[in-house]
Amino acid sequence: MAENEQKKRIAIFGSTGSIGTQALDVIRANAQMLEVEILTAQTNAPLLIKQALEFSPNAIVIGDETKYNEVKEALATTSIKVFCGEKALEEAADFDTYDVMLGAIVGFAGLKPTLRAIKKGKVIALANKETLVVAGDIVMQTALENRAPIIPVDSEHSAIFQCLVGESRNPIEKIILTASGGPFLGKKPNFLVNVKRDHALQHPNWNMGAKISIDSATLMNKGLEMIEAKWLFNLQPHQIEVVVHPQSIIHSMVQFEDGSVKAQMGLPDMKLPIQYALGFPERIKNDYPRLNFRKYPSLTFEEPDYKTFRTLGLAIEALKAGGNKACVLNAANEIAVWAFLKNRIGFLDITAVVEQTMEAIPFIAKPTLDEYFESDGEARNFAASVMKM
Ligand code: NAD
Ligand code: MG
Repeated sequence: MAENEQKKRIAIFGSTGSIGTQALDVIRANAQMLEVEILTAQTNAPLLIKQALEFSPNAIVIGDETKYNEVKEALATTSIKVFCGEKALEEAADFDTYDVMLGAIVGFAGLKPTLRAIKKGKVIALANKETLVVAGDIVMQTALENRAPIIPVDSEHSAIFQCLVGESRNPIEKIILTASGGPFLGKKPNFLVNVKRDHALQHPNWNMGAKISIDSATLMNKGLEMIEAKWLFNLQPHQIEVVVHPQSIIHSMVQFEDGSVKAQMGLPDMKLPIQYALGFPERIKNDYPRLNFRKYPSLTFEEPDYKTFRTLGLAIEALKAGGNKACVLNAANEIAVWAFLKNRIGFLDITAVVEQTMEAIPFIAKPTLDEYFESDGEARNFAASVMKM
């Protein structure tokens, strides 16, 4: 970047999470081109305060209103503006003072602020896949109307995005999403029925937030990613394939109409796709460890075990059905994963809760945004009632 160019001003929504903290590592290492404008967190006040003191953003938002005084007092001697609550989160997305929103909130909660930023025509570096899973049609249409570029941060989608650079005139035949298989690759239901929270949280290749770690263990994450890919790259369900690749070196692939396949590779480190999205269209030089092919003499590929990991099949059903199905799937999954993390239901119950909720909630073929919110609420209530919570 030329020295006289302005720094990119970044708003990190969900700065205290796994993606948020890694994004701050990237910004810290590239302070000559990136600066922090807004930080937000839901409950982790001490970490938000620490981040604010280090990066001196213009404004921060703490979602949990009971933490407002703690945060405000800790920053009393600074000029950092402190806000709290859900409305403030949306209003912060409206600020004129930033360039790129990094959407790093987990779950449905990311949808509203992301849509607000899109309406302002901001560049969206999107990690929060649930936003696209829930309302991908509205999100992509709004982005088109407001010329808001959406640059994926999810490693598979970043890989596909990178494979597509320079290919705008060439239709995609299909994409192949790679899946690590998660911590229970090769396991069968008689093992999974007894799986406990702490075991499910241990992913072999990635260190991630709790919700996505469980989604990776059930393979729901790959299902959500199929739906995310449909919207990001304007694909039909039959153009989206999943292959299990336990080494997580190939992050995904694109097959073109001449049969040629492009793959994007690298060590599994989320800082790489985060950095690519924040730097885009430039690649930022770094000194992270490099991929050494001799250390990976065999890259292997296999079919997912759809019979054991039935959430993947449920997500494919939602992908094909369209309408509010994926919104319902996502809501039920969020409630069920939360219950599993609290040790209230078993690992395989997650699948059962999602399946029953998908059957129960009425189908809407072309929902409005309000109807997506209603479907989300209904699905949450139903899922909770199934679990007798
Ligand atoms: P995380 O749980 O570690 O962090 C979530 C962040 O969102 C925190 O800062 C938290 O304060 C905030 N948050 C939580 N609930 C909120 C709410 N109701 N309202 C506002 N803010 C809220 O999650 P993560 O692992 O960093 O994942 C974030 C998103 O990125 C998810 O959508 C996930 O699927 C996606 N993603 C994560 C990874 C990864 O490696 N962690 C990889 C690919 C995609
Ligand atoms: Mg991913």
